[in-house]
Amino acid sequence: MKNKFFNTMCSIFLACFIVMIFTPFITLAIPTTQTIPVTTSISPPEPEVTETASENSTSAKDITTNQSSDPEYDTYTYTERQQNNMPTILPPTELYYGTKTIYLTFDDGPDPENTARVLDILKENNIKATFFVLGTQVQNHPTMLKRIYEEGHAIGNHSYNHIYRELYQSPDTYLEQLHHNDDIIKNVLNVRPHISRAPGGSAGTFTKTYWDLLQNQGYIEVGWNISSGDASSAKADELVSNIIQQTNKNTFLWSHAILLMHDSGGHEETVKALPSIIKFYKEQGFEFRIINSKTPPAW
Ligand SMILES: [Zn+2]
Repeated sequence: MKNKFFNTMCSIFLACFIVMIFTPFITLAIPTTQTIPVTTSISPPEPEVTETASENSTSAKDITTNQSSDPEYDTYTYTERQQNNMPTILPPTELYYGTKTIYLTFDDGPDPENTARVLDILKENNIKATFFVLGTQVQNHPTMLKRIYEEGHAIGNHSYNHIYRELYQSPDTYLEQLHHNDDIIKNVLNVRPHISRAPGGSAGTFTKTYWDLLQNQGYIEVGWNISSGDASSAKADELVSNIIQQTNKNTFLWSHAILLMHDSGGHEETVKALPSIIKFYKEQGFEFRIINSKTPPAW
């Protein structure tokens, strides 16, 4: 009797022991969802979306969370955001400073011939660039804009018509041209760019009101710090040596070298020079990036 009691107690003790030992494993194995918090706590916390970012705005969220070098767009124009009481100011973002980074930029297109040739050369070299387009050109060549977009390059707003005396009459006329071009671009791509570049540059034309309006309406003005000099009648080899000279002289700009070129009609020399320009930067070990909200100001 005593022996039986002893055996029973031993069995109970053994059973308890087994349960104690294996319980943690059983608990972990059965509800698989319990392991998820462990995984999520290891991965970096979701970056905070500021109050200015809207839940409806994929672009605002992308800008805060996207650490890659992808182009950024908005699914709403400034006017649409205003009409729907949506935030219009972009959330703050961390700027990207590389050791050797080159941003190739092309203004005044799209052009049926030169843009197509530029895109072919970029594709052959497996690199991406940024195109600041004009509304008048997009109206005439929407399929070329689509090709730029579909091949993964970045698109920026370069005003509607580039006519200085109309464009720079006042900050309002400038912004009206950006809005007009946004509507034209959105009509083709269903998105609006955030980046813009003032024709002729902002120096000497922008007052504080221009900068304030651009910021309030979700635009990022993009300058340049290396000029190809292709607005002149320079030949391809002169353009290449201009660029090499400026790049080598200003090593402090290598963290974000922004090169200005043109892909509009009449810039065949730029197209001719492009393979040598790309070769130079590749040989120097530069990283090619497109312009987005993480690109530092040129100066
Ligand atoms: Zn221009």
